[in-house]
Amino acid sequence: MILQLQTSQHTQFLDITQQVQQAITELKLTQGAVLLFVRHTTAALTINENADPDVLQDLETIFQRLVPWQNNYHHNEGNSAAHMKSSLLGASEIIPVKNGALALGTWQGIYLCEFDGPRTRQVLVQPLSATS
Ligand code: ZN
Repeated sequence: MILQLQTSQHTQFLDITQQVQQAITELKLTQGAVLLFVRHTTAALTINENADPDVLQDLETIFQRLVPWQNNYHHNEGNSAAHMKSSLLGASEIIPVKNGALALGTWQGIYLCEFDGPRTRQVLVQPLSATS
């Protein structure tokens, strides 16, 4: 299954936890794990705090400090910083599933990390069955 997700800002941490839970429900995945894979080179996935939005703001601040938008990059598309941030966080996450629910911790949310938006992004939701 592929989730189509619309981001609205240039840099954005979009909480997709509910969409992923809905996907595993539709896929009738009850035990095992789910592989999430973002099919882009200027976006990423991460799992982090879902309660205090200041954490996401701090993440954005640190990434901006680590990887400034302008830095004499070679890539002539002008979005090298977005590519670098994508590789720093990575394109995939594996999340265990128990009794049909994501086995996340209380304060964990799943985030699509947009680094060159706004764009329409695709996240592949691939069940990993416990029995096969
Ligand atoms: Zn590029």
